[in-house]
Amino acid sequence: MLHSMQPAAYVVPQALETTCKCPECDTAFLYANGVMGLAHYLDADDEVTQGLVCFCSTTCLLKWEPSSMLGLMN
Ligand SMILES: [Zn+2]
Repeated sequence: MLHSMQPAAYVVPQALETTCKCPECDTAFLYANGVMGLAHYLDADDEVTQGLVCFCSTTCLLKWEPSSMLGLMN
């Protein structure tokens, strides 16, 4: 899959038409309209881990991360 140049190999097209809830502001939105970014979160064992998280907007993506994690962007 990593050597494919076809977007369908990475994203199931039907999944873009499904709704999800923004983890930052609880707004419901379509995946196709969301913003995906590598974000930090606490897993089930309260360990800090990172993974791809889908947000309703870039604003929510930036609000999600602690400001100390965004230091390199300033
Ligand atoms: Zn949001």
